[in-house]
Amino acid sequence: MFNGAILIGASERTGGAPFYAIDPSSGAKGEVAFSNASIADVADATALADAAFESFSTLTPDARATFLESVADQIVAIGDLLITTAMSESGLPRGRLEGERGRTVGQLRLFASYVRQGDWLDATIDKALPDRTPLPRSDLRRVNQALGPVAVFGASNFPLAFSVAGGDTASAFAAGCPVVVKGHPAHPGTGELVARAIIAAVAACGLPEGVFSYLPGTTNDLGGALVADPQIKAVGFTGSRGGGIALMQIAAKREEPIPVYSEMSSINPVVLLPGALAARAEALGTAFVGSMSLFAGQFCTNPGMVIALDSPDLDTFVASAAKALSANAAQVMLTPGIHAAYEKGVEALASADGVTTVARGTEADGANRGQSAFFATASDQFRANPALAHEVFGASSILVKCATIEDVIATIADLEGQLTATLQMEASDADNAAKLLPTLSRKVGRVLANGWPTGVEVTHAMVHGGPFPSTSDGRSTSVGTLAMMRFLRPVCYQDLPDALLPPALQAANPWGLTRRNEGKLELAA
Ligand code: NAP
Repeated sequence: MFNGAILIGASERTGGAPFYAIDPSSGAKGEVAFSNASIADVADATALADAAFESFSTLTPDARATFLESVADQIVAIGDLLITTAMSESGLPRGRLEGERGRTVGQLRLFASYVRQGDWLDATIDKALPDRTPLPRSDLRRVNQALGPVAVFGASNFPLAFSVAGGDTASAFAAGCPVVVKGHPAHPGTGELVARAIIAAVAACGLPEGVFSYLPGTTNDLGGALVADPQIKAVGFTGSRGGGIALMQIAAKREEPIPVYSEMSSINPVVLLPGALAARAEALGTAFVGSMSLFAGQFCTNPGMVIALDSPDLDTFVASAAKALSANAAQVMLTPGIHAAYEKGVEALASADGVTTVARGTEADGANRGQSAFFATASDQFRANPALAHEVFGASSILVKCATIEDVIATIADLEGQLTATLQMEASDADNAAKLLPTLSRKVGRVLANGWPTGVEVTHAMVHGGPFPSTSDGRSTSVGTLAMMRFLRPVCYQDLPDALLPPALQAANPWGLTRRNEGKLELAA
């Protein structure tokens, strides 16, 4: 169960002005009074995390993997209460949340198997060359090492997979970093249930209690204090551009600045190339509406922009999308605040110069329902008004009509950094696609052909990141095993006695790792 507590390692506290969960489908207030963690709670949690760092970060890969698996098991053991609580706090349906729970535990287990392999340590050995002339060379050995305690800010739109035990927490644990989570106030019961599951896993694995703490709260001051705390060495965040940038600024002003990995805003352009439109304009219209309105469009990878050459085939696409959208029921959005922001964003697009409303979904018939919206404009209008390229979080998208492929390229070149870009193409579009790809790949972290960007697989090759402002650091991803590299740094040991080296670098290779010796990979036996 959950009782509204602040969880500092193994101990519980209450305090601060109470806050309550809101069921967005009705606007009803929940019964449990949740605590607001204080600045003193932040200091206590981060001190415990710092105390846990040395032993947690030096666990064998197998021991850390076992912990990740235990977190997954404990989340599953919560049972249906996790699903019903998340449903009442997010307005998301059961099937979606059951799928998200599967993704959350699958992600933890994927990290466990990757941690066991050990190649993320990137153990690299350049042995001493005592006879080298004119000077001998030292023995140099490099390995990746955990950064230190990590602060995690969960997202409202994935109360499980991007929240308390989501990708940021899983990847920080995988790297060997203790985690302090600032709980998202939109799903406090869900957050506390998962936090308690992690704490149970810490105890079951005999780890120091500071490996994990959970700070619920509703104030920017709480999150700001966590980022400013000197024991915190990196931050993972998913949410608004304003929030992400505020945390980056706090981190940059610290006496010791630290990296903030913020995943913020993206409109994920979809380019409809002429061959694809000629072959399947109608089907593309229906599929596009399915993607942009999925779960009220509350995805960071939502296709918020479509670009195409003006043509009769494009008219067929528009007619098909308009038909599908007009039948699209208004859906409950995550929070009253997100719903209000959506309405404001849609209103701004509807009233912008040169923008026409292609279609709206059915009108809302209850609290916090988002009525989907599809707009159209010409590329010159779009390029002249940067506000048209701002993310409207929800089921809203804008079609940008271009005259030439060069116009398409120039429109994309003007965009800010994005998480994804999609090409809808046939074989006959290959030349145009080849012209577009250099510009597209400079703008995004993932390029798709003939899919829709809203599906993000959790795998080794996935990149869920992109140039600013889609993320704060386009060299990273917040989904997939590569995400753990955000929380590691390389350390080189020069001429250290073998017994003092980390096991990954010792001569006997006690962890049986694949290592790089004089630049050549030596595969594990
Ligand atoms: P949010 O307002 O950015 O909040 C996310 C988390 O960050 C919350 O825990 C919030 O805590 C904290 N926070 C926000 N601003 C802060 C600041 N200045 N200082 C310290 N902490 C701060 O995101 P949201 O509530 O989930 O949704 C609001 C908007 O974010 C949406 O309308 C949408 O535009 C965007 N969004 C984007 C994505 C994405 O995937 N890119 C996902 C979800 C939402 P407190 O509120 O308690 O301070």
